[in-house]
Amino acid sequence: MTNPILDRFEAVDASRRAACKRHGRAADDVQLIAVSKTYPPEDILPLLEQGHRAFGENRVQEAMAKWPALKQQFTNVQLHLIGSLQSNKAEEAVALFDVIHVLDRMSLAEALAKAMRKSSRQLPCYLQVNIGDEAQKGGCAIADVQIRLAHARGLGLDIIGLMCLPPAQKNPAPFFALLQKLAARHGLKKLSMGMSDDFETAIQLGATDIRVGSAIFGPRG
Ligand SMILES: *Cc1c(COP(=O)(O)O)cnc(C)c1O
Repeated sequence: MTNPILDRFEAVDASRRAACKRHGRAADDVQLIAVSKTYPPEDILPLLEQGHRAFGENRVQEAMAKWPALKQQFTNVQLHLIGSLQSNKAEEAVALFDVIHVLDRMSLAEALAKAMRKSSRQLPCYLQVNIGDEAQKGGCAIADVQIRLAHARGLGLDIIGLMCLPPAQKNPAPFFALLQKLAARHGLKKLSMGMSDDFETAIQLGATDIRVGSAIFGPRG
């Protein structure tokens, strides 16, 4: 019996490893985050049972409905928050998630720092950069990366890298390259970039965390 989700996962993972090889990267350097937003626990279970542990969700509310039970059933799950976070949900997010990819403004840095102190959970964070300078997108302005990093670190946050979502319908390569350059300039080792349609390009340009949803779980309804 084959499971289509497992089959697609294996295909994506094989492409990830092949891209690493092509571009002279160690396969272990690039983590595959399975983005399970909108998909029910039945679709997530086969991956957990097969041993995969890194998952991404973009809404706190939805994740709270799905993940506490799954985390109880499977140890060492690493849940990544990849969708915009309201400051008033910081406590709930810190209690459930393990990595935050969407830190982008001072008020949120303050709310996260407070929530982490209160819960004694220190979550690694990525600073999200509005790499295409789009009005509708989250992320800090490129010109503000340095000041946001200093501010977040001053609050005691552990900033491990940069994250971006390049403009849709454009060649993502120059945006990935720019994020890579920014990370290098600031001495950051981690780069969260690349989705179903462009993760191989992201790997070529230094991604350490690719966030892949529909190529694994199928089209979202
Ligand atoms: C939904 C989402 C993804 C995954 O997108 P796919 O195209 O389904 O792979 C990655 N990153 C973020 C921030 C997302 O919201």
